[in-house]
Amino acid sequence: MENKVAVVTGSSSGIGLGIADGLAAAGMNIVMNGIEAPEDVEQARKDLESRHGIKAVYSRANMMKPEGATELIGLAMETFGKVDVLVNNAGIQYVSPVEDFPDDKWQAIINLNLSAAFYTTKGVIGGMKERGWGRIINIASAHGLVASPFKSAYVAAKHGIVGLTKTVALESAEYGVTVNAICPGYVWTPLVEKQIPDTAKARGMTEEQVKRDVLLAAQPTKKFATVEEMAGLAVFLCSDSANSITGTALPVDGGWTAH
Ligand code: NAD
Repeated sequence: MENKVAVVTGSSSGIGLGIADGLAAAGMNIVMNGIEAPEDVEQARKDLESRHGIKAVYSRANMMKPEGATELIGLAMETFGKVDVLVNNAGIQYVSPVEDFPDDKWQAIINLNLSAAFYTTKGVIGGMKERGWGRIINIASAHGLVASPFKSAYVAAKHGIVGLTKTVALESAEYGVTVNAICPGYVWTPLVEKQIPDTAKARGMTEEQVKRDVLLAAQPTKKFATVEEMAGLAVFLCSDSANSITGTALPVDGGWTAH
């Protein structure tokens, strides 16, 4: 996978950072993105370069806006002249009963968790088709396949990105481009940690009860999935062994969606 270029949105933390690390370990140059403190991201960027001997650059593009995709893909083109792998990972969560769900939170989740993937895909798919090789990996969720209460925007956006995945897969299948969604169950990252207090409030539970009786209740393994497991699957999807895997939504959820 040497000399390939991967753009990973939301790769300054959690699953995105893990996937950037996995793709860098496989030899790819990386375009990082995210809104964490610049000094922390700079540290992570240098770390990728020094451990894996690749080149990594970083953009703070705000992926909630269409211009964010233009800025991010623009940096990739300026630096490397192409994008071989696009991982749409940036995402946020908000938990509330639908009748109280704030309009601005709905819009922010749809913009970041769904529309951003449309804009980045539009920006890279032409080049991938021309070169006859490409990989688009959308980080959906088990919530792209099934629902949970109080997560209307998130579940709608994640079901939406599974639909986008299938559509773009069909449009690009004859051009050596595969498009797949990874559907993680609960992975222990800052995104999960941050939603525990609101879920506790919405359900009238303690935070420990939320972890045991809400989050891991649905996950038959009773364990959080890991960032490394997500990275391993992303690397596999970029390999030749996965040439015929396209248009799928692959659960990595400890059996959750088997229910
Ligand atoms: P995280 O909070 O650790 O990381 C989110 C990343 O998105 C960060 O790099 C952050 O800087 C970036 N981001 C946030 N707002 C942004 C913006 N406006 N513009 C650009 N980047 C922005 O979260 P995570 O748990 O690693 O989640 C990553 C993805 O995986 C999300 O799409 C999430 O929905 C999905 N997912 C996570 C879990 C889980 O259990 N953690 C489960 C299923 C799906």
